[in-house]
Amino acid sequence: MSIKQLEKELNHLYPETVKWRRHLHEHPEPSFEEWNTRQFIAKKLKEFGYENIEVNVGGGGIVAYLRGAKYGPTIAFRADFDALRIEEETGLPFASKTPGVMHACGHDGHTATLLSVAKVLKEHEEELAGTVKFIFQHAEEVLPGGGKSMIDAGVLSDVDAVYGLHLRSPLEYGTVSYCAGYAMAAPDFFNIQIQGKGGHAAHPSSTVDAVVVASYVVNQLQSIISRKKDPNQSGVLTVSTLQAGDGAHNVIADKATIKGTVRTFDPNLRNLVEEKIKSMTEGICSAHDASCEVTYTRGYPALYNHIEETELISELFKENRKDMKVEEIPLRMGGEDFAYFLQEKPGSFFFVHSGNKDKGIVYPHHHPKFDFDERAMLVGGKCFMDIVNHYLIESTEVFEESQQAAGE
Ligand code: MN
Repeated sequence: MSIKQLEKELNHLYPETVKWRRHLHEHPEPSFEEWNTRQFIAKKLKEFGYENIEVNVGGGGIVAYLRGAKYGPTIAFRADFDALRIEEETGLPFASKTPGVMHACGHDGHTATLLSVAKVLKEHEEELAGTVKFIFQHAEEVLPGGGKSMIDAGVLSDVDAVYGLHLRSPLEYGTVSYCAGYAMAAPDFFNIQIQGKGGHAAHPSSTVDAVVVASYVVNQLQSIISRKKDPNQSGVLTVSTLQAGDGAHNVIADKATIKGTVRTFDPNLRNLVEEKIKSMTEGICSAHDASCEVTYTRGYPALYNHIEETELISELFKENRKDMKVEEIPLRMGGEDFAYFLQEKPGSFFFVHSGNKDKGIVYPHHHPKFDFDERAMLVGGKCFMDIVNHYLIESTEVFEESQQAAGE
């Protein structure tokens, strides 16, 4: 069996892959509530001939094994399948039928892609040396995420390497990209509640003005990134919400709320920013006779793509995906719970660009008009096949050749 043959079979299956994607898109379910989606995936795997499909892994994940006839490594592929609480505005014929819920991150595409790979490979079990573990993960979008609980349930214990992909709109279709080392940020959140003392706007000296205190806090927090962070490191701190007062001209606000997000890669910088948000806010409030409560919530860890595995897939894609541009891209500030998988096992998370200006696919992820060029699913499926071909087909051919040579 060759990679060309696997590609051909994926091409042949493509109309069905699109059908699955559109079905999932039409029936999105939010994180931790993907009941019908899980049933759909398990049913499809069963139809393809998979047995002993594990359901509710780590709460809501699904796992299926493809065990090759010959001995070899175990490679895991992960696709997420949850949707977002967004009201869809695409106007697509297969737009969400569930009010307020939408597949606006392309997870419908990830799942359909991995299903297509599972279906094609099932026909070639006899020819494979090793195991492919298909991991369908629930709840990527909402903390604490489904990835961590699946790993805690042991989903990676028998795995040698793990790979995943993300579609990426509106980056134009025609490119597959990778990023060695840190690729996606740890997305953390903070809430600050400032308590002052309200009063008449004409008599500030008998009050503690929460608006003034909050303004100092917002300004000072900016200095964490500009003055405390090593300039060689990446990090973002954004105050996204500032609320105080009730709209009156003549009342001093007694309290203020500040909310925001922190994005970092380096664990030490992450600790520093958390510590500084707390100490600066407390210092400023104390200097102004206000009190405060600071809560800092840690999101997923930063996603680190293992160097060797990332170089491997970039070479495989460059060699086999001749009709695609294969390029390295800089790290991004978005978060992704595939980070947990890569903390456990070597592997890499790559990107299949899926925007298309001519088709009006120009909106970013999590946008009510988000969409992707469905051909990107075919590209993604072929990339997974490149990985299978490397670990479970070609390496064993080399092994057999060398054994034959040794025997001669
Ligand atoms: Mn996503």
